[in-house]
Amino acid sequence: MSIATKDIIIEKVKNSKIDQVDFDNLAFGSVFTDHMLVCTYKNGAWETPTITPYQPITLDPSAKIFHYGQSIFEGMKAYKDKNNDVFLFRPLDNHKRLNISAARMCIPQIPEDYFMEGLTTLLNLDKDFIPTKDGGSLYIRPFMFASGNGFHASPANEYKFIIACAPSGAYFSGKVKVLIEEKYSRSANGGVGYAKAGGNYAGQFYPTQLAIEKGYNQVIWTDDTSHEYIEEAGAMNIFIRINDTLLTGPTSDRILDGITRKSILEIAKDQGIKTEVRKITVKEVVAAAKDGSLKEMFGAGTAAVISPIAGFGYRDTDYDLPELENSFGERLKKIITDIQYNKSEDKFGWRYQVKS
Ligand SMILES: *Cc1c(COP(=O)(O)O)cnc(C)c1O
Repeated sequence: MSIATKDIIIEKVKNSKIDQVDFDNLAFGSVFTDHMLVCTYKNGAWETPTITPYQPITLDPSAKIFHYGQSIFEGMKAYKDKNNDVFLFRPLDNHKRLNISAARMCIPQIPEDYFMEGLTTLLNLDKDFIPTKDGGSLYIRPFMFASGNGFHASPANEYKFIIACAPSGAYFSGKVKVLIEEKYSRSANGGVGYAKAGGNYAGQFYPTQLAIEKGYNQVIWTDDTSHEYIEEAGAMNIFIRINDTLLTGPTSDRILDGITRKSILEIAKDQGIKTEVRKITVKEVVAAAKDGSLKEMFGAGTAAVISPIAGFGYRDTDYDLPELENSFGERLKKIITDIQYNKSEDKFGWRYQVKS
């Protein structure tokens, strides 16, 4: 089964919404492009993808997504360079991961050409929505969910694969204060933490809200059994710099295999920064904060690229991180975004030009 661009059914908008978009004041993921891609899985096969005007979708109240939560997604971005050429960053890795998530949630696999042809055809139609302002990009949300009907607690027999896009401004979260969580868990051994499943986010909201009420912005997740090991920062992978070594935890059932994370590890190595992928204990981070060897902590993910952490709370004590010039975080962010925006040579082969 394969699909070519010419096979995709396209219904264009009559009037574009682009004039209503305030490109100078874009929030994150709150206005959408003219079109979306929709592909339905039915009778054991994917139907021909269609591109339609961006619009609500209709589902039966018994659709299994509402009851049993078969729902997964990806987050990626399209970037424009100064010549208005359009680029993606490691898009095949997003496709692979979507299918890894799909397998775990009993959702059918989406073929690579449906994903890539669908995405690039959609981007070509909506490319005027890709911001050109510094740091702006088109946030892309591919997702799949159970649209099949019935209250029976079993996998659905119908699914939708949809891609929707939102022009977005630079993602400045500012420096965040985080709380090391010891009661709640984001994920568990044998669980679904490695999948980009919607329910993982639902489960994070309540503990995060409690942390916000205590004056923090975000939660640092620890392992579910001992709570002694640091795993992720909110919905981002976490990096910790002790002296001049950059640490991050190993991916597992519980830690999502972030594309930003693995890119940062490669760039850091290339830059001669010492990296270690190993379990990180809360104890060593607290000790490093006390003796001054803790230099930086940051989250890593597609939306913010790198989100610097100003300090953390642990068992009623707050620890502040130093203000650093030339932090690893800033250095690595510049290198990765220069590759994404086609401002530098890409010796890793990560940039993917969307041909028109
Ligand atoms: C999406 C996500 C990340 C970051 O992955 P990227 O591929 O870098 O965007 C990290 N942790 C969790 C839990 C995530 O859902």
